[in-house]
Amino acid sequence: MKNLLPTLFLSHGSPMYAVEPGDAGGAWAELGRTLPRPRAILMVSAHWETAVPMLSGNPKPDTIHDFGGFPPELYRITYPAPGAPGLATQCVALLKADGIAAGVDGCRGLDHGAWVPLRWMYPDADIPVVQLSVQPGLGPAHHVQMGRALAPLTGDGVLVIGSGHTTHNLRDWMANARRPDPLKYAQDFSMWLAAALAAHDTEALVSYRERAPEAARAHPSDEHFLPLFVAYGAAGERPRPERFIDGFLNGALAMDSYLFHADEALAHA
Ligand code: ZN
Repeated sequence: MKNLLPTLFLSHGSPMYAVEPGDAGGAWAELGRTLPRPRAILMVSAHWETAVPMLSGNPKPDTIHDFGGFPPELYRITYPAPGAPGLATQCVALLKADGIAAGVDGCRGLDHGAWVPLRWMYPDADIPVVQLSVQPGLGPAHHVQMGRALAPLTGDGVLVIGSGHTTHNLRDWMANARRPDPLKYAQDFSMWLAAALAAHDTEALVSYRERAPEAARAHPSDEHFLPLFVAYGAAGERPRPERFIDGFLNGALAMDSYLFHADEALAHA
């Protein structure tokens, strides 16, 4: 039986989490201390959208400050983790073997969906990071399929992380500054997700826009939800979800974050 790393889905909060990560920062740091140390990280970020899957192949990725209107100190932060061009090539091969065409971008750096949580999880920036883009045009099922194609990496010392948000309506986020209680729809969506994950109901999950309560309000566009499907798929057919962060930012953005423990079949494969 193989030792498999769990996979992760993180709700990454606002770019301000780079300096004020609140409870999430503590939970991210705890993960970095307690998970078996990976040889590399495959980071699926909501902040890299492409028409076909792309892997970052830059051996020294820059830190991208892909946000506007934040305090100057945020723009001075760097996260100098090395890249892993060999892992990027390995990912392309795994995707191709499953009929998914993918490419390598040799220039791409790390966006804030990647480096904000990693800065707290692995503050020494000494674990190589490869990013994988999301394809909003191809929908959730494609992202589960990508995860399943990449599942062998979890037995090869690679930590697969999806970084996005459980709900992501920025209009509601701006309209509810410091709101202490959650908006009902955001709470309902979060509860629906927890139940669907616990039931391994992949069919419901991939058709969440029709099946989940107020999905269109929870995700006016679904790029922030898509990384979850890769992390879920990479943990096998029936991953066991463990929610390790919950709560809401401004009552609107659900912070739910999950560990997905691989199913037994994958461990014996
Ligand atoms: Zn984001």
